[in-house]
Amino acid sequence: MEAHKYHPESLMMSFGYKPEWSEGSAKPPIFQTSTFVFKTAEEGKAYFELAYGLRKNNVDEQSGLIYSRINNPNLEILENRLCLWDKAEECAVMESGMSAISTVLLEFLNPGDLLLFSSPVYGGTDHFINHFLAKLGIEAIGFHASDSYEDIVQRIKETGKADRLAMIYVETPANPTNDIIDISSCKKIADIFSTTEKQVRLAVDNTYMGPLWSHPLQLGADVVIYSATKYIGGHSDLIAGAVLGNKEMIGRVKTLRTFLGNMPSPNTCWMLLRSLETLKIRMEQQMKNAQVIADFLQHHPKVEKVYYLGLLEPNTKEYELYKKQYSSPGAMISFDIKGGEKEAFLFLNHLKLFKLAVSLGGTEGLAQHPATMTHAGVDPEQKIKMGISEKLVRLSIGIENVADILWDIEQALEAVEITSLDYTEKLVTVV
Ligand SMILES: *Cc1c(COP(=O)(O)O)cnc(C)c1O
Repeated sequence: MEAHKYHPESLMMSFGYKPEWSEGSAKPPIFQTSTFVFKTAEEGKAYFELAYGLRKNNVDEQSGLIYSRINNPNLEILENRLCLWDKAEECAVMESGMSAISTVLLEFLNPGDLLLFSSPVYGGTDHFINHFLAKLGIEAIGFHASDSYEDIVQRIKETGKADRLAMIYVETPANPTNDIIDISSCKKIADIFSTTEKQVRLAVDNTYMGPLWSHPLQLGADVVIYSATKYIGGHSDLIAGAVLGNKEMIGRVKTLRTFLGNMPSPNTCWMLLRSLETLKIRMEQQMKNAQVIADFLQHHPKVEKVYYLGLLEPNTKEYELYKKQYSSPGAMISFDIKGGEKEAFLFLNHLKLFKLAVSLGGTEGLAQHPATMTHAGVDPEQKIKMGISEKLVRLSIGIENVADILWDIEQALEAVEITSLDYTEKLVTVV
């Protein structure tokens, strides 16, 4: 028989772990240890030589376990399994999505460099770029999904620092509007400004669509970044992150991780290994539910506009890009409710099955108000530009029975008719 190549979802239960390593234990135990015992001093010396890059591995020589800030079996099994989805050479798991993002930016940018980034990006990323990197003398310029390739190139040249462009950082689809950015187009821009001495790196935050429905490394990205707190973790019970790419870049990220000490604990890695086993079925069910909900919202008289990739009009530029870059519309929906903050809050306060909380990608439905919650810190003028108005509500769709999700949204929208005064009374009787 021909060699068979398994799909990633079939390997999530076994890849990178052998039961004989742990008394036949079917699942990897939690290696709750800070340090690892060397058989001999010579072995310890050899492990350190490899870990510190003092010499290359001999044939068949494996790097050994030293200390849990540097390596740990739970961490390594998790990294090996995450590589399968993105077909990445290497992965570095981190203690949060933010630590994945900040470590990448710190490793590949130097004082005086120029950074190009898509806007909007996650609030924490925006703050790190505009406040912390500015302090290091790194200039950052933003661009929007609606900006043309020519405009962006022009803007880079206008800074007078085009020769210092070191990185393009992209988050797509953008949170919370689902605007999409063309990754291959960004790769072209990176190539224009790359020289033989200096490669402009392209980093993509793929939290919304990965690792199932979009593979930025295949579209030209150099690194792909995740908040593993979201779909990968998927149960709203942990904080973690990941960075994937080639050996050279991830090697550098891992080295900085060793010195920042921002690796996840063995326990968090173990929980993520468990999450990975159901990743595909969770995400697929979330997406199926989201399609039903988006259709329902689009036809509801109290809803003004729905932002969902599955509702894009065929034969538009945006639709073509969506088809090229994604294999699914995802499970994140935003919508403008008719009215403003008052109506949005009435809707949110009346949800019963959905939890009123930020974050996303978990098994349960979550709802929030971007203008006053996740994006409260964004400059008011920018907020308008990004389409984050007072009437915008964001939903992360879960795996509950879709009839129950529909019922919840329907009854919460029904409650929006009441004025806010009546509402206070009504809430008392409901409670
Ligand atoms: C949540 C999130 C982050 C930050 O991740 P943490 O795990 O909370 O640190 C970064 N990017 C996106 C798109 C996110 O949704």
